[in-house]
Amino acid sequence: MTSRPADAHDHRRATFAELMAHQADDVREIAGADRSNWRGTYEGVSERRLRGRATWAGRLQYDHREVIGCLQEMYERAGQRHDEPTLIRYRSALRTVVHENAHLLSARGTTHTQGKMAVESQPETHALEEGVTELWAQRNLNAFHRQNRPRSSRAEHSTGP
Ligand SMILES: [Zn+2]
Repeated sequence: MTSRPADAHDHRRATFAELMAHQADDVREIAGADRSNWRGTYEGVSERRLRGRATWAGRLQYDHREVIGCLQEMYERAGQRHDEPTLIRYRSALRTVVHENAHLLSARGTTHTQGKMAVESQPETHALEEGVTELWAQRNLNAFHRQNRPRSSRAEHSTGP
C-alpha cells in the first residue's frame, strides 16, 4: 500500500465549474447514499426568500446572487484572506448546495418516486423532511467544505493577461 489516506480525500475542486459538476457525487459520497437523482444541470433563479430548490424531476435551482454569484466569487478570490462575514456567506452558500443535493439522494432499494408519493400522501412529512435535511446539511458541511475549498495553489491560474 503506497497511497496515503490523505491522497484518497484530496479531490478538492479547483474551480466553481468543478464544484457544480461534482456537487451531487460529493454529497452522495458523504452520505453513503446509493445514488443521486440529479439530472446534471442547475439554474439560477431570483425568487424572494428562496436560496435553493431541488425538484422531484431532479432539477436544482439556486439563487443567482446568494448562491451562484457567491460561490463564483469564492473561487475567484481563492488564496485571499477573508473577513468573518465573507466566510459566513461562503459557508452559507455551500450549505445550500449540500442541503438541496441531500434532497435528491436515494437509498439502495428505494426510488425518488417513493419519496415523492410519501410526501404527497402525507403533506405533514414535508416539514420533517426539511428539518432532517437541514440538520444533515449542517452536520456534513465541513466534509463538503473540505472537498470544495478552493486550492490557493491554483489561484495563479485565475490571474489572466
Ligand atoms: Zn429543503
